[in-house]
Amino acid sequence: MIYLDNASTTPLHKTILEEILPYFTDHYGNPSSLHKLGIETKNALSLARDRIKKAINMECKVIFTGSATEANNLALKGVMHSSKGKHIIVSAIEHDSILEPAKSLASEGYEVSYIPVDRYGMIDINKFEDMIREDTVMVSLMLANNEVGTIQPLKEAIDIAHKHDILVHSDVVQAIGKLNLDLGNLDLATISAHKSYGPKGVGALCLKDDIKIRAIIEGGGQEYNLRSGTQNVPAIVGLGKTMELSKSFDYGRVRELRDILIKRLLEIPNSRLNGHPKYRLPNNAHMTFLGINGEDLIIQLSNKGVAASTGSACTTNKQRESHVLRAMNFSYEEIKGSLRLSLGIQNTSEEIEEACNIIADTIMELRRISPYSYKYNTLA
Ligand code: PLP
Repeated sequence: MIYLDNASTTPLHKTILEEILPYFTDHYGNPSSLHKLGIETKNALSLARDRIKKAINMECKVIFTGSATEANNLALKGVMHSSKGKHIIVSAIEHDSILEPAKSLASEGYEVSYIPVDRYGMIDINKFEDMIREDTVMVSLMLANNEVGTIQPLKEAIDIAHKHDILVHSDVVQAIGKLNLDLGNLDLATISAHKSYGPKGVGALCLKDDIKIRAIIEGGGQEYNLRSGTQNVPAIVGLGKTMELSKSFDYGRVRELRDILIKRLLEIPNSRLNGHPKYRLPNNAHMTFLGINGEDLIIQLSNKGVAASTGSACTTNKQRESHVLRAMNFSYEEIKGSLRLSLGIQNTSEEIEEACNIIADTIMELRRISPYSYKYNTLA
């Protein structure tokens, strides 16, 4: 399989696997136990916290969770439930793990404002400032979008938010390893391992010490009383190693391969690149091919040995069209004909060459059997 779905998840890196393995076998102590075996795993958690703080250059508490989804839920519900203010701002193109808790908060009586985006998936920073009110508690703005790859002006948003004394949370999951993560000015950040060659089922919320936050999972008081439950030590060790290694991945080479891919696919009639042409993740190629159905394309590609997706894996589960492309004001036809190709450090130039041929042939074939083939298979 030529794997071009690295924004959904990535294969486990060998170095990370090697780091994890002893924690399934020899080092099995409960980190809350007072004996030697417990101290051993407690120290492993501390090392993971240190590696994370160093990788994101943030002085913070690191709360380990079972996923980035859980960390996002904790950030939004935890902060809002412990504050007097009733207003929260999120961007319209956040991942569902932000939008759904925001919806829940709205049903509890909180007010949510959504920052609009332009055709390239870039937030309107002026509109964001206009939305801030006396009772605004926080804003949640992702660093890079998981579907179209657009990188948001997070630093500017932090400056504006702090001028008005509101907290800033950012889901930086898709940026790990791909962008320089210098998050010292952020108040809360969500990370996860599996988009960057680490294990699935582990994430963390990093938050500044003085932030008031209430747990959403209660019990034995682990993780500073903010996330009870015995920690998944092997996965956390993997997350720590992922963050430590993240700066060493060669995304310059990935970017070159991605640019070749985009150039080749834009030669297909009636095709276009979505997301920002300049401010985008180095591994993302999100495209629209008019006159095809993205799901049909994914299935055909899978049969021919190419793994791709139409957008977020969560959206696929819910069988609904992308809220990101909707927010970017795409037409139904443009949304339907979209394809997300996301590269990883393991992809080779031979793979990209082969994938380009397969994708181009499949699109032309799908259009040929469509009643509208005359419209799309020639240059507009
Ligand atoms: N945030 C973003 C931007 C993502 O792309 C994803 C993954 O799909 C998540 C959050 C959820 O991550 P997890 O699978 O760790 O819950």
